[in-house]
Amino acid sequence: MAIEQTACILCSRNCGLRVETEGAQIKSVRGDDAHPLSKGYLCQKAARLPYYQEHADRLEHPLRREPDGSFTRVSWSQASATSRSACSRSASATGGARSRSTAAAARATTSAAPTADSS
Ligand code: SF4
Repeated sequence: MAIEQTACILCSRNCGLRVETEGAQIKSVRGDDAHPLSKGYLCQKAARLPYYQEHADRLEHPLRREPDGSFTRVSWSQASATSRSACSRSASATGGARSRSTAAAARATTSAAPTADSS
């Protein structure tokens, strides 16, 4: 058994936590009394982490949805490549690529503008 002092990242409050672990398993999560802001507080989301970590329905690897609605296990690199491709298609379809071009052109224009001490 080990107790780790850490912070919750489930929301922007970042409450201090004391997490009791056994190997890779979370045994308990408690608020950290020594944390200067949360002072021992934690909400139910963090308190229930052991439940979610061990839940039978928890996904442990990426799955690709097939046209018939079933799921096929894929590697992390396949899932990442698929996500990148979908983001690129979305950016192209919605003007994301044009927006980036416009931003780059604006930066180039700004950096080429004369400064107060250049004449
Ligand atoms: S314990 Fe709850 S309130 Fe605190 S950071 Fe985590 S989710 Fe947010």
